[in-house]
This record gives sequence, C-alpha cells and structure tokens, in this order.
Amino acid sequence: MSTAFRVARRRCVKIIAAAPATATSLVGLVLCASVAAAELVSETDPAAMKLKYKADATKAPERQDPQAFCDNCTFYTAKDGAASGACAALGGRPVAAKGWCTAWEGY
Ligand code: SF4
Repeated sequence: MSTAFRVARRRCVKIIAAAPATATSLVGLVLCASVAAAELVSETDPAAMKLKYKADATKAPERQDPQAFCDNCTFYTAKDGAASGACAALGGRPVAAKGWCTAWEGY
C-alpha cells in the first residue's frame, strides 16, 4: 500500500470519526471513495508521461518484452494478485499491475 494511500485513508478515518453520525458521515464516505478511486497514476501525469507509462502494457509501442509488466518490475510492490501496486519509480504511487513504462526493470 502506498504512503499516499495510507495518509489519505487515515485522513478519511479522522474525518468520519469527527463528523456527527448524520449525513456528514455519508458525505465523508463518498469523498473517501473518490480519493481511493483516483489513486492510480494517470497516463497523462507528467512523471508518468516522461516514462511513457501505459496502464495497459500491450498498448505501449516501446515495449519489446511481451512478458514485461509492472507486476514483475523491480520498482513494483503489491500483494500477490493485486490489480495495482506501488511504483518506486513514480514516488510510490499506485500503478496498474498490467501496466508498463520505459523504466521497467525485470528481476
Ligand atoms: Fe511499472 Fe516498473 Fe514502470 Fe513503475 S517502473 S510504471 S512498476 S514498469
């Protein structure tokens, strides 16, 4: 789990805990869900663009190795089978397990 995600989750828990048990809590839950959904690095993110990151590795024209994916890159950390994980090359932000970029480095 990325540091950014943990901080966002912790912040959400504090907001919900501090809110009265009313509609405010529901708003907090919706906002937290939005934060979690927006967590994956976008292909248009400036840092991702520099590395030509693609969330779907098969759509990366520079990719030479058909077995190269984020989930077998040395910069990637995630639980086994997770759909996304943290990329150290992108500051620990989440990337798609089946993504790829030009910084890919196999084990
Ligand atoms: Fe994926 Fe590795 Fe590139 Fe990060 S450095 S985006 S884990 S291929």
